[in-house]
Amino acid sequence: MKHTKLLFTGLSILFIFACSKDQILKADLDASSDKSAAMNQTAMVPNANSEMLSNANLENVPNELLVKFKKGTSAEARTKAIGLLNAQVQEHIYTPAMKRSGDEQGVFLLRVNINALEAISKAKAFGEVEYAEPNWVYHHDVSSNDPSFTNGSLWGMYGATSVQSNQYGSGAAVAWANGTIGSNNVYIGIIDEGYMYNHEDLIANAGTNPKEIPNNKIDDDRNGLIDDVYGWDFAGNNNTVFDGVGDDHGTHVAGTIAAKGGNSKGVVGVAGFETNVKLLSAKFLGNRGGTTANAIKAVDYFTALKNTGLNIVATNNSWGGGGFSQALYDAIFRANTANILFIAAAGNNGTNNDNTASYPSNYNIENVIAVASITSTGGLSSFSQYGSLTVDLGAPGSGILSTVPISSKRGILSGYASYNGTSMATPHVTGAAALYASRNSGVTVTAIVIKNKILDAAKLTPTPSLAGKCVTGGRLNVSAF
Ligand code: CA
Repeated sequence: MKHTKLLFTGLSILFIFACSKDQILKADLDASSDKSAAMNQTAMVPNANSEMLSNANLENVPNELLVKFKKGTSAEARTKAIGLLNAQVQEHIYTPAMKRSGDEQGVFLLRVNINALEAISKAKAFGEVEYAEPNWVYHHDVSSNDPSFTNGSLWGMYGATSVQSNQYGSGAAVAWANGTIGSNNVYIGIIDEGYMYNHEDLIANAGTNPKEIPNNKIDDDRNGLIDDVYGWDFAGNNNTVFDGVGDDHGTHVAGTIAAKGGNSKGVVGVAGFETNVKLLSAKFLGNRGGTTANAIKAVDYFTALKNTGLNIVATNNSWGGGGFSQALYDAIFRANTANILFIAAAGNNGTNNDNTASYPSNYNIENVIAVASITSTGGLSSFSQYGSLTVDLGAPGSGILSTVPISSKRGILSGYASYNGTSMATPHVTGAAALYASRNSGVTVTAIVIKNKILDAAKLTPTPSLAGKCVTGGRLNVSAF
């Protein structure tokens, strides 16, 4: 059973697996020592313990913590506890998705003058505190933009049973040829940087929030966010989800999911062939990464849209880092309840996620699909994390050509570039989920049904480099749905 081991071995012995485009690894722990540390940890519910305190490779916002109070705690009792911590309320996060789930307390983002981990220890001693945890910092999971791949073809779109080009691709082109194309009733949430929705190869598939009237300065759909048309920027707390060339990673991910096919321009995404699968953005990664506080708002953003009737099938999560977060776990659980897949990158440190948990891909929730990266010759990418219990399948992630914004004297233009990373593998799977949901609609097509179709197809496509390295031992094969 997936993740069982990690559930029991504790979840605090983690590291940041994302690496920046210049390949400076945030952390490179010795996996064997991690494992022995993990084996000594028996708590079912993880907490900020001494191992967390001693692990310098976990990145968190230094003077912030997230606190949830127990159900029934009065406002007076909360204020008193916050006062005893000498903390200031930075934000009371209380999303529509939390309200709908029956959560009466929300989550408090507190600012303290002392070290956050010290404050967490203090907070936990209060009887009214359900949990207190770091505000982790996450990074996207692109490994590099290796120029040796820059004239690479779109190998990730071919393959499987096809004789076309490359057998290790996702099989998307075969599916298209068989008539499986997207539907404009399918929405995909990109939780990442923002993306260039007006890119020449994305604009046709840029979704908008149908209940929001653009630029009227009114929160038409009453989700607390004014003019969230293409989505919302939780990092900047505004409605501008595209902020320039710094949003290249989010734009690259978007292109792999649904760049427009058949328009004689650039590339094509898995769910982009002659289709209008709709993309929406919840930007939470800024120049220096993203935080747990913003990640939970981003996840809940799509859950709330789904709860009001928009057909959000999946979110793409090409990012990771930090340790276990109960707040993020709860947000992903709410997405699960709302029937939204949470498709996540396994990480780029080349390590085994069975031994050293990687978040968010390791969260043991039914809607999570954890994705490793393979190369165009079928190997496990050298950077890719893996795990026979904790990573579900492999997908193309090395030398992936997709959309990016580029800067020029004439301003920001539509461009294309090749990146490597589990960040690039993940959106192939997200695009596959969108395709499946496009072809098979109705209440019986739940997130778990779609997940099982994707995993069953991977099992039918065994791949030697993935044997014993992931749950299915196989790779994405859209043509085997
Ligand atoms: Ca709104």
